[in-house]
Amino acid sequence: QPRIGVLAVQGDVREHLRSLAAAGADAIAVRRPAEVAEIDALVLPGGESTTIDKLLRIFELRDPIRERIAAGMPAYGSCAGMVLLADSILDGTHDQQTLGGMRITVRRNAFGRQVDSFECDLPMPAVGEEPVHAVFIRAPWVEEVGDAVEVLARVPEGHGLASGHPVAVRQGNLLATSFHPEVTGDERVHAYFVEMVQAALATGSAA
Ligand code: GLN
Repeated sequence: QPRIGVLAVQGDVREHLRSLAAAGADAIAVRRPAEVAEIDALVLPGGESTTIDKLLRIFELRDPIRERIAAGMPAYGSCAGMVLLADSILDGTHDQQTLGGMRITVRRNAFGRQVDSFECDLPMPAVGEEPVHAVFIRAPWVEEVGDAVEVLARVPEGHGLASGHPVAVRQGNLLATSFHPEVTGDERVHAYFVEMVQAALATGSAA
C-alpha cells in the first residue's frame, strides 16, 4: 500500500483522505516538514490557492515539497491544487507563488466569479469508459500546455467559453484536475493516481 499524504493546511482534506483510502492507499494528513519525508506521494487539495501558498511558506513546507516534486515524487492537485502545481498562472494575486512542476498555464477562477459552481459529465478515457461527473467550484482551467503534458479531459462542447479547455492533465508523475472528484463518491481518479504512484515506486522514478 503506497503511503499518500494529503496537504492539510487548508481545504477539503478529509474528503481526499477518504477517497484515497477507498482507492487502496495508506492516506495520511501532512502538516509538518518532517512528514513530507515520510510519504510516497502527495495530494494538494482544493481550497484557496493564495491562502495555501501563504501557509506553505509559514509552515516551512514549500521548500521540502518542491524538492521532493523536483526529485520525482508523484503529486495530484485538485482545483486550488492544480493552481499550485502550475508553472505559470493567470489572474493570481500580485504576490502569489506556486510550487510549480507542471508545464501548464492555468487561469484562476476561469469559469467566472459569478459562477460559483459548474457541473458536467466529462469523458475521461484514462479512468474508464463512463464519464466522470465533474464538479467545478470557482475552478481554474488550463489555458496552455507545454511539452510532455498529456490532456486527460477537456470541457465538452456546449459549455460556451469553457468548451475545449483542458481540465485534467498529466505530466509524468504529476496529475492535476480542475474539478473535485473527492466530493462525488467516484474514486476512479484517485484510483488512477494510486496506480500512478505504484508504477512510479515499481520503476524507481519516484524519489
Ligand atoms: N478559486 C480557488 C483558487 O484559485 C480554487 C477553488 C477551489 O479549490 N475549489 O485557489
